[in-house]
Amino acid sequence: MNRILFSNVQVIDCSGAKPFPGEVLVEGNHIIAVAGSDASLPRDNVQLIDGEGKTYLMPGLIESHAHLSIDNVDDLAKIGAMPPEENTLLTMHNARRYLDFGITSCISAAAAKPRLDVVIRNAINAGEIPGPRLLACSPWLTVTGGLGDERKLHMPNVESMALVVDGPENYRRTSRELIREGVDIIKLVISGDTFVPHAPSTSTVMSEAEVAAAAEVVHAHGKRMSAHARSADAVKLCVRHGVKVIYHANFADEEALDMLEEHKDKLFVSPNIGFTVVASYEGSEWFTEEQVVQLGFRDELEGAIKGVKELRKRGVRVLGGGDYGFIFTPHGKNARDLDHYVRYFDFSPMEALLTMTKYGGEAMDMPNELGQIREGFLADLLLVDGNPSDDPKVLLDHDNLLAVMKDGHFHKTTENLMRCASDC
Ligand SMILES: [Zn+2]
Repeated sequence: MNRILFSNVQVIDCSGAKPFPGEVLVEGNHIIAVAGSDASLPRDNVQLIDGEGKTYLMPGLIESHAHLSIDNVDDLAKIGAMPPEENTLLTMHNARRYLDFGITSCISAAAAKPRLDVVIRNAINAGEIPGPRLLACSPWLTVTGGLGDERKLHMPNVESMALVVDGPENYRRTSRELIREGVDIIKLVISGDTFVPHAPSTSTVMSEAEVAAAAEVVHAHGKRMSAHARSADAVKLCVRHGVKVIYHANFADEEALDMLEEHKDKLFVSPNIGFTVVASYEGSEWFTEEQVVQLGFRDELEGAIKGVKELRKRGVRVLGGGDYGFIFTPHGKNARDLDHYVRYFDFSPMEALLTMTKYGGEAMDMPNELGQIREGFLADLLLVDGNPSDDPKVLLDHDNLLAVMKDGHFHKTTENLMRCASDC
């Protein structure tokens, strides 16, 4: 079997331990041994990758809120207008692009069409196209007037990346239908959003009966739910009905924080502030100062900062990445959020890194296989020119990624790293 030895590297194992000089041996698609500099791993029949002591080896990144089927747009109706054929190709290209940027796993947080994630996931798993390990998601399920309902009374047929669903019975039927088509995740839009004037972020637009109906179907099929939940009540609905990955949670109040803490072994919060940071402080091209204030972006950011600091204290697992694929948050810049976590949430760079590695593996339901460099784990690895546990921004330039390995195969590598191990 194919053996690859990463030697002379600084290992960031993403257990939370400090980087250490060492070696990592891969056989097939698994890491079979990890050694510190005091030991040396077998060199027979291995392909040697020499990091020359200056490079860092870390687990592949895990994106917790991926939208592979959208293309850096500023208009939800444009996403709906793209025909499925073009949209499939776009999704395929983005899947490859995520690997280019060292993202080896993705939890999708909504596809632009019902089967897009499903066919791309299946093609990746069959080895037909390159791409990350992917949990396939439904489109957003949103209520009439919720985020993603782009219709007007005189224009009833405008599509977006959402399916508009009202009433518990319809939530049941639509969830069953999407599960029949192969999704792993049903995504609900429980709260409003900044961009919906009649349903702001602090409002809760889905009813409890609707959330419960979707939950009943999803859990009966052994699948999972995720949710757009900015308001306090939306967060509480998520906890009560077993939503696994809760997105945003900006306005979680004391009761919501208590509930999250109480169920912290079963859920994750993915704050996704990248969009909000840009809108608040870097968006002068798109918004006047007056609009920034009026739309409440900074309130939303302040809410997230307060909430996440509290969640961190309470030991709730926070995930990194988030909502890339929009005009403010172009694909490939996902690791920017790690720097935001350091700047806004007071995470250490290492803690920030764990949100896209160790905790990402747990959120993929693969806590003993993904997100860390450990014996027996899957070989999803990045060789980085620079220390991401000191400054995660080094991950933003894909020239710094000297090698990207997924499942024991190199997606990217450079010839000059290769060495003959023994007798050549
Ligand atoms: Zn999203």
